[in-house]
Amino acid sequence: MSLATRDHAVIWHPYTQMQTAPLPIPIVRGQGAWLYAEDGTAYLDAVASWWVNLHGHAHPHIAERVSKQLHTLEHVLFAGFTHPAAVELAEQLLEILPANQARIFYSDNGSTAVEVALKMALQYFHNLGRPRQTIVAFRDSYHGDTFGAMAVSSRGAFTAPFAPLLFDVAFIDVPVPGHEAESLAQLEAVAAQGDVAAFIFEPLLLGTAGMITYSPDALNALMACCQRHGILTIADEVMTGFGRTGRLFASEYLASQPDMVCLSKGITGGTMALGATSCAAAVYEAFLSEDKLKTLFHGHSYTANPVACAAALASMELTRSAECAANLARINLAHQQFAQEMTDQPGIRDIRLLGTVLALEFAVDTTTTYFSSLRDELYQLALSQRVILRPLGNIIYTMPPYCTTNEELQLIYSVMRQMRELVTSKR
Ligand SMILES: *Cc1c(COP(=O)(O)O)cnc(C)c1O
Repeated sequence: MSLATRDHAVIWHPYTQMQTAPLPIPIVRGQGAWLYAEDGTAYLDAVASWWVNLHGHAHPHIAERVSKQLHTLEHVLFAGFTHPAAVELAEQLLEILPANQARIFYSDNGSTAVEVALKMALQYFHNLGRPRQTIVAFRDSYHGDTFGAMAVSSRGAFTAPFAPLLFDVAFIDVPVPGHEAESLAQLEAVAAQGDVAAFIFEPLLLGTAGMITYSPDALNALMACCQRHGILTIADEVMTGFGRTGRLFASEYLASQPDMVCLSKGITGGTMALGATSCAAAVYEAFLSEDKLKTLFHGHSYTANPVACAAALASMELTRSAECAANLARINLAHQQFAQEMTDQPGIRDIRLLGTVLALEFAVDTTTTYFSSLRDELYQLALSQRVILRPLGNIIYTMPPYCTTNEELQLIYSVMRQMRELVTSKR
């Protein structure tokens, strides 16, 4: 029996309609930007394996450090105990995060990093004796799949079965070009009611919404409003962190610093599951007390897993190297050139580019959604060319590992050109 058939007999895959989905592609090995299937076919990983991979697959430097850690200490409970990798990683994160960040709270994925930030924000006001209950989020945002993270995410088909159980959130529009004033007015209106604890946002780039971009100035204005009203700001950098947007964090483009930052995905270079939530001193200090009830009662069994922290430390060395900075600039330049070529081409409605992320929005009628057949056709077209590109509805994007070469980028662009031709041939 093939691996795919054995898989189908025992496994339930994420975001997959198991009745109709084709059998999964069995991957047995990875190297650089490439994934190798059981039958020997090589696939170019143009989406960094769900946005996690930074430096290529099975990177020898990360593998070595992980292996050493495994032979030294694989895990230890993280209440009442600590270990070198967790401390070193927290020190390094605080070195590169916005300067006001003062503490790191570990968890094990992006959704939990968000849950922790939301609980910190709500309990912050509770501990101060001035409870606030409202969270503000962007209408089209994505912050994860656990209940709290779902509640602050875009409400739609994916969350519909749980809608009655999701807590109320004040949603505001994303301040895309031309809508900055509206978005700010919506925030001002809800802030004026005095009950807003926190505003959570994906800084400058909303991933799952379709790689939607908006300007630093627009976010600066929203954050300034939060400051005026004593509202905590939470930058969800789960996707944008560690160089994705051309700088180490998207927050570096901003005039002010968020009170909390959520990290995961690229934190380990795509090697291990790890989440982290950082916070400013004022947030941390609101939990310091003789009163035990002011404790943040939250934790996961694998909090600060040493192997994950070791992977993160190894990835961090690569991310902070001059070679990585050069790669970020090189990929951005290649993206710019391709974006220029695509500008005003038939079938293209919009092109969005930030750092290493490039998205093309195809002009198709708006009833075309994630579920449409066009999405599947585009996906299959890419696969037939041995490139992994997963469309978000009528939006195709690439977020390649930073080691992706210029030739490999050209392969991605060539598939995108064919996709544009496919879309225009249908109109
Ligand atoms: C992927 C993502 C999450 C959720 O992370 P998981 O590790 O998949 O739970 C949260 N926020 C943003 C912005 C993301 O892109």
